[in-house]
Amino acid sequence: TTASDYVESLLASYPDFPQPGILFRDLNPVFADAAAFRSIVDEIIDHYRGQFDAVAGIEARGFLLAAALGYAADVPVLAVRKGGKLPGTVLTEEYDLEYGSARLELEVGQLPAGSRVLVLDDVLATGGTVAATNRLVERAGYRLAGVAVVVELSDLQGREHIGDAPIHAILSL
Ligand code: IMP
Repeated sequence: TTASDYVESLLASYPDFPQPGILFRDLNPVFADAAAFRSIVDEIIDHYRGQFDAVAGIEARGFLLAAALGYAADVPVLAVRKGGKLPGTVLTEEYDLEYGSARLELEVGQLPAGSRVLVLDDVLATGGTVAATNRLVERAGYRLAGVAVVVELSDLQGREHIGDAPIHAILSL
C-alpha cells in the first residue's frame, strides 16, 4: 500500500466546517493509523533524501509530521508557531487564510545560517500558511529545501502562492 492509497482511503471530509462553503479534510484518521503515518513519513524522507538539514513543522498538525521526520531522519526540528506564543527574539509574518487571517512566528538563532529547511504541514489549501512559513525560514537566514504536505487541495491553487519552492504532496485532490 502506498502512502497516497492510505491517505485516500482514510481521509475524512466534512462539508461546511468550520464555516459554510468549506469542505474540511480531516487527517486525524490517517495519523491514527500507524502504518499509514509511517508510510507518509518514509515517503517524504525518500523524496527529499540528502536535500535537507532540518525540518520545520507548522502548528499544529505540522508538528506531528516534523517530530516524526526529525527523529527518523536524525535532523533538528523547528516549531513554527501561531502568533504570540514564542518568547525571545521572534520573526513574524501576517497572512490571509482561506477563512480569516493569522500570524506565524519563528524564533531566531536555532540553526546554523544557511541550513536547508524542509517545511511540513498537513494540508496545502490557499498556500498562505506555507508561503508565510517559507518567508520566516528565509528571513531567519536558512535556505528553503522544499515543502511537503499530506494533502494538497489543488482547486485552491496553493502552489501558485508559494513561489518556486519545490513542493511534494502525498495526495492531490
Ligand atoms: P492555507 O489556506 O493553505 O493557508 O491553509 C491554512 C491552514 O489551515 C493550514 O495550516 C492548513 O493545514 C489548514 N487547512 C486548510 N484547509 C484545511 C482542511 O480542509 N483540513 C485541514 N486543515 C486545513
